[in-house]
Amino acid sequence: MTEYLERTFVALKPDAVQRGITGQILHRLERAGMRLVAMKMVTADDELLMKHYSEHVDKDFYEGLKNFMQEGPVIAMVWEGVNAVENIRKLVGSTSPKDARPGTIRGDFAHMGYAHADDKGTAVKNLIHASGEKKEALEEISLWFTESEIQDYTRSDTAHVR
Ligand code: UDP
Ligand code: MG
Repeated sequence: MTEYLERTFVALKPDAVQRGITGQILHRLERAGMRLVAMKMVTADDELLMKHYSEHVDKDFYEGLKNFMQEGPVIAMVWEGVNAVENIRKLVGSTSPKDARPGTIRGDFAHMGYAHADDKGTAVKNLIHASGEKKEALEEISLWFTESEIQDYTRSDTAHVR
């Protein structure tokens, strides 16, 4: 166990669930050697979303973001790995799918940009949330999960991937 081994919070947003591509997205995190340690399907209420997106509640796009996140259930997870926060953000890609690089989750499974979303009056549907920094990860994990919901097991490739 080194200081580089981290946990991060990830949520598959309602568009990923409704499009039936959750397995393809989870596969990308699994194949990178990240260890899934908690997972549940959640219909996010107003209070949970306000806490989760506390930095955005006063922004113009918050109403659209809230509506988007309440279109259906999300899949909330905790993933663990070496520099997991930074590494999973790298796999996720830029916030706007229009700008997200090919090979990233947002770049490969979506293409919408901010301008189009704003014209439609909706959020940017970008499939997945991942904590942006270590402090945010700790806060989000404790917001969505209790300690007893976090599991422990050994992945057979541990010796090679971390
Ligand atoms: N979002 C949006 N319009 C904006 C900015 C953000 O709809 O102009 C949505 C988008 O779904 C994004 C979420 O709000 O994922 C949170 O924004 P943040 O800047 O934290 O992006 P992220 O950390 O998800 O990449
Ligand atoms: Mg963010």
